[in-house]
Amino acid sequence: MSQIKFYQGENVPLEMHKVRIVQKLNLIPVEERLQAMGEAGNNTFLLRNRDVFLDMLTDSGVNAMSDKQMAAMMQADDSYAGSETFYRLEAKMQEIFGKDIFLPAHQGRACENIISRAFVKPGSVVPMNYHFTTTKSHITLNGGRVEEIFIDEALKITSDHPFKGNVDIDKLVALIEKEGAGNIPFVRMEAGTNLIGGQPFSMENLQQVREVCDKYGIMLVLDASLLADNLYFIKIREESCLDKSIREITREMSDLCDIIYFSARKLGCARGGGICTSRADLADEMRELVPLFEGFLTYGGMSVREMEAMTVGLDETMDMEMIDQGPQFIEFMVEELQKKGIPVVTPAGGLGCHVDAMEFVDHIPQEQYPAGALAAAIYIVSGVRGMERGTMSEQRDDDGNETISNMELVRLALPRRVFTLSQVKYAVDRIVWLYENRRLIGGLSFVEEPKVLRFFFGKLAPVSDWQTKLVAKFREDFGDSL
Ligand SMILES: *Cc1c(COP(=O)(O)O)cnc(C)c1O
Repeated sequence: MSQIKFYQGENVPLEMHKVRIVQKLNLIPVEERLQAMGEAGNNTFLLRNRDVFLDMLTDSGVNAMSDKQMAAMMQADDSYAGSETFYRLEAKMQEIFGKDIFLPAHQGRACENIISRAFVKPGSVVPMNYHFTTTKSHITLNGGRVEEIFIDEALKITSDHPFKGNVDIDKLVALIEKEGAGNIPFVRMEAGTNLIGGQPFSMENLQQVREVCDKYGIMLVLDASLLADNLYFIKIREESCLDKSIREITREMSDLCDIIYFSARKLGCARGGGICTSRADLADEMRELVPLFEGFLTYGGMSVREMEAMTVGLDETMDMEMIDQGPQFIEFMVEELQKKGIPVVTPAGGLGCHVDAMEFVDHIPQEQYPAGALAAAIYIVSGVRGMERGTMSEQRDDDGNETISNMELVRLALPRRVFTLSQVKYAVDRIVWLYENRRLIGGLSFVEEPKVLRFFFGKLAPVSDWQTKLVAKFREDFGDSL
């Protein structure tokens, strides 16, 4: 059943806001897009924004701000220590999460650095529903190991499971028994599980994880970066929460966790981050790391203007009419693509639409980066910038062999309140055309391959002249249009 708010009987999501500031976009001709993609080494991270029409790379730091957020930025109180801006933000965190200690940090990964340094030791094991790239790096950097204990459904591309972000409770218990509770500093739950398609966990699952943590005396940490989407899905999909307000659901989740941290580049539509807890003993372990790595305790590396925007943005996140826009646009996009037979991750999650490159271009071997090739092809035919999430995003092993990813996805993020429905339809139309011509798409191979984080900086070339042929076919079908 569709959860989209209907407009006059049409399957069209309805925005509960209007646009008052706009930014002009640029759509360059397909030949220039081909050239730009070549100069960027077929890596969408290396494109210049001026060459991009719809930037669906990420939802990080690019969500639209409200008039009230912009207004709040004007009253920022600039001061190294004791800024009023900080106290307003702290009070909002206390109100929303019911936790009295707030440690500011400049973004999500900075919180992960602090938490990992404070609690992860060599030999530590950290169980979680799924890892995020920066989380895993910080835990391993401190000598720990990540163990993912997701349910079997989590990695299925097409599914109707409402909570693919759930932890498998039996596997969690078995893991704790095997490793010993003493080696497990915390269990981490990630809201709106990023790397498996923005998929939520349920309140029931979080309660069960809490029970296990209580039994073994282990602390529970929530990564709330994508909390807004998870709240939306709990509210509409979980029987026991249908009649609860977003504020009540947030508070109930918060009460189950010892530490909450987040990236405000996503949560609250601003830029920054922070850690909340009501346990003074845990705060004592983390507090001194804030001035060391971030900045003084009343700004933590953030600009006061962004902190004011965060305070208002977090308050606005407690409104269903604000947080439903992202998931409803994504659901619309996923359904439109599905109708045309395009393989996509289902059910629709938060964050963005995820195209299954393994099936879309099933003729490209994984050693030739099907998701990277598809992301390059999508940009060439549409000017839409997505992100590769597959083998290119992995790292070679110590012997130089490829680590083959278990999924090959192109993520088309829909930053919140940024795109219009006609822009989403344009992206869908071009992807449908590309699907009809998918046999023209070929693979990629590295010409410059950095050892670490190769997906950020690496440059690739097409394995044949497939891109020129694709552009020729585009001209044949679209005439002079861009
Ligand atoms: C983005 C993200 C982070 C890292 O946050 P940054 O602000 O980009 O450092 C951590 N966890 C999750 C789930 C995220 O989506």
